[in-house]
Parts: sequence; structure tokens; C-alpha cells
Amino acid sequence: MENIMPRMKSRSLDLICREEIRVRYAPSPTGTLHIGGARAALFNYLFAKKNKGSFILRIEDTDLERSRKEFEKDIFDGLEWLGIKWDEGPIPRSNEYSGLFGPYRQSERGEIYEKYIKKLLDDNKAYYCFCSPEDLATQRQYQIRRGEAPKYTKTCVNIPKEEIKRLKMEGKKSVIRLKTPLKKMRFNDLIRGSVEIDSEEIGDIVIARDLKTPLYNMAVVIDDFEMKISHVIRGEDHISNTPKQMIIAEALGIPYPIYAHLPLVLGPDKSKMSKRHGAVSVTEYKKQGYLSDAMINFMAFLGWNPGTDREIYSIDELIEDFTLEKIRKSGAVFNIKKLDNTNSLYIRKKDIDELVELCIPFLLKSGLIKENYDKILIKKAVLLYRERMKTLSEISELADYLFKNKIIYDKELLRWKGMNDEDLRESLDIIYNIMFKIKNEDWNEENLKNVLMPEAEKKESRGVLLWPLRVALTGKKASAGPFEVADALGKEKTLERIKKAKEKI
Ligand code: GLU
Repeated sequence: MENIMPRMKSRSLDLICREEIRVRYAPSPTGTLHIGGARAALFNYLFAKKNKGSFILRIEDTDLERSRKEFEKDIFDGLEWLGIKWDEGPIPRSNEYSGLFGPYRQSERGEIYEKYIKKLLDDNKAYYCFCSPEDLATQRQYQIRRGEAPKYTKTCVNIPKEEIKRLKMEGKKSVIRLKTPLKKMRFNDLIRGSVEIDSEEIGDIVIARDLKTPLYNMAVVIDDFEMKISHVIRGEDHISNTPKQMIIAEALGIPYPIYAHLPLVLGPDKSKMSKRHGAVSVTEYKKQGYLSDAMINFMAFLGWNPGTDREIYSIDELIEDFTLEKIRKSGAVFNIKKLDNTNSLYIRKKDIDELVELCIPFLLKSGLIKENYDKILIKKAVLLYRERMKTLSEISELADYLFKNKIIYDKELLRWKGMNDEDLRESLDIIYNIMFKIKNEDWNEENLKNVLMPEAEKKESRGVLLWPLRVALTGKKASAGPFEVADALGKEKTLERIKKAKEKI
């Protein structure tokens, strides 16, 4: 184990100053990339970039039954969409890795784990345990009945080597347990401060199923060490694993990283964020039409804030201002209204041509446009609604009438307050006749307004002319203004829709 020892040295600021900052996001592909996970990835990424360090993606797929390739893909897709790029880790859509410390999937690291597990057994710091799940359950119940904290009773701690061999030959199932020393485990969490846990409560934990199959805590310790991870930044739900990982590292004689546990992401009811609170998967937000830069901005504020009033940050600006010290300890409540507001803001400030490109997939999906779409019309639609859209998907609902040949609406909607059929027909006639005379080349919002507004002003209310016009063009109770809409539709379609409205009366 010579390669383990040289790195052993005292942990402290010394390490932060002298060694490269290396952090990792280590998801288990047993589910999609959810907001809590993406936020952990983001904070790791920001910390790495801020400190000119490396951000590593490690896939923790030791639970072969629950791990799935489609979840792994969802994690890659989500991170790629968000623009959280990893310096080392699996390369999506290939079987390759980038980085010197691969493989970066735990399922492919069996050989590496073996030497560490063997070392613990050889050093008599771990032992084989042959207790059956039934035995363990009985022990547990007994302890609970006596009011004791349930933990393993060390039944197998002293089985002689020969006996172990024999039991194995007989095919008896076993696991490997660590001899957990009785002492207080203390660590200085960069977010939570000093944390102390009595290892007596932990007991002799199972660290591996066999020499090549470590369980979560063991695999993490080996990987963090092998991958030279300097800081472990992860969700607070892992805090109870930290002392176990420290004990394992100590048994191996290797240093452990510096820890920072992030506050949980909570739903509006203050319970841990889950599916019950709506979409939790990052790719789901993409499908709903949130912008990745809005999402990044929003997620950064789930637990972190710069300590000023400033709320809008690009990812590069976040890298500048991010520090772990500014992360709160208390849970971060997920507020969908805030996400919507942030998203509208990003939609409004997005470059118009980029926004058009972003809206196209949504219009295609809703069937309003086909592959041979008219980009100019799409741009008009986006210009009409970018101030009103909360999400990109809303473009289809807001601007559908621009793309449809026929719009369906109830005749009653055409009526402005107190208008009868006669009034309505008269309004539409006036509008039609004025508009008819406008030349194609003069057909634009400003001219339309200049010509029609004085007519509308003559009425007791502008609505008498402008309301039926707007409804005739959009079929909607609420929409963009009539001149902008007429401009976007063009002369021919506008006149045709006014005609259709007249036919309804
Ligand atoms: N694989 C663990 C998870 O997905 C994370 C482990 C860690 O960050 O230490 O929850």
C-alpha cells in the first residue's frame, strides 16, 4: 500500500493553500437529476472554478439493481443543459473518460477497491461476518426492547481464519465489517462549524459485500482519496455518513477531505423537496420552458446569497462572488414564483434571435409550426410576447392564432360593453374600410396606430373599435394590442379575419 501512505499529512488550511482544489459531484444513477442534486453540482462547480481547481463527476452506481443507464443519461443531459461542465469524469455518449483518475464509474472500479478492503482485513481492522439477516433482525429487536440503540453485537469479530475458510467453502453468505473504534468523531464543517458524533452509536458497520464490492461509505472514501478530492461538498442528508467515512479513512491510514454540508432544499411546506412539490427533475424544467441561465441563477440562491440586494447573476459572475462562507445553514425553500419571475426576466433580456431559436422546439412540439417554418413570423410572435412569457412553452398558448389558419372563438367575445349586433357590424366595417386602403408597404404597427387611433378616439370609448378588432384577429380575451397583432399577421390575414368576424354576426 505504498501509494497510500505518502499523501498522509495533517489536514488543515495547509492543504487548502498548497494543494489543488478538487471537488466532485457524485450522483447515484438511481433517479433523475433533481434540483437538490443539480444545486450540489453547481456549488461544487462554482467552488472549483472560483479556486482554479477541478470539478469531477463520479457516477456512484454500486447499487446495481437500482442504478440505470437512463438515469445516468438524464444526469449528463441535465448538467450539460445547465452548462455545468466537468473537468474529469465520464464522457457522455461514449465509453470513455476524461481525467487521470478513472474509471469514474464505481461499477468499474472493483480492482481498485479490492486492495483497500484486503488491507483492512489483513490489518485486522475488518472482519467477515456470517450473521444472517434473520439473526440480525432478532438482535435488533432485542436491543430495542431493552431500550438500547440497535447496533451490531460483534458476534463474528473473532472467527478464526480456518473457520472463515470453511464457512466460505460451505457457501455461507458473508459481508465485511469494520471494527469501529469507540471514540468521538469531530470535524469542522465549512458550513455548519464543529460537528461531533459519538462513534459508539455507529457500531461495526458493513463496508463491503466482498473484496470487490464495497458499500457506499467504503467506496466513497477510497474514491475521494484516489481521486485526490480536497473538499466534499454535498447535501446535509449525508452528514450522518461523514463520521463513518472518517473512521474508514482512519482505519486505512489515509487523510479525509474537508467537508461542507449544504442545507436541504425544501418544498413550500418546509418538508424535504420531493415529487409531491411538482417537477423536481432538471430536464423536466427544461421541457417546461425554463432557461438554463435562469435556472442556474435561481438554484444558486437556494442556500447561498451574496449578502447584498443583488439577485441577478450569470454563471461567470457567480464564480466571481461565490464563497462557501455565504451559504446558510438552514434549509432553502424552493419558491416556484421566484423561479418564474427569474425566468421571465431572463426571457426579456435574452437576445431576440437566440430566443427565437429557443422557442422553435416548443412551437414544433405543439404542432403550430412544421419543419419548414417561417422564421420571420416566429420572430414576430416572440417579439409580441417576450414581455409576457414566464416560460418558453407559453409561446404556443399565447401566440397560437398567428400560426393557425382558422381561429375559433365565440361571437359574444367580439362585443365591447353594451354593443349590439348593429354596433358591432358598424365597428368592423369602419375598421375594414380603413385598413383596406393602407398599402402593403405601409402596413406596420406605427402606421396602423396613426390611422386607426383617431377613428377610435371619435367613439365614446376606444374599445368600441379596438376591442372587436383585437378579438377578430386573435380570438382571445387577452392578447397583445391590436396594432402589433395586425402588423404581425399582415394585411391579407388581417382583412380576412375581420371578414370572418363579420360573418359571425
Ligand atoms: N452517491 C451519493 C448520492 O447520490 C452522494 C455521495 C456523496 O456525495 O458523498 O446521494
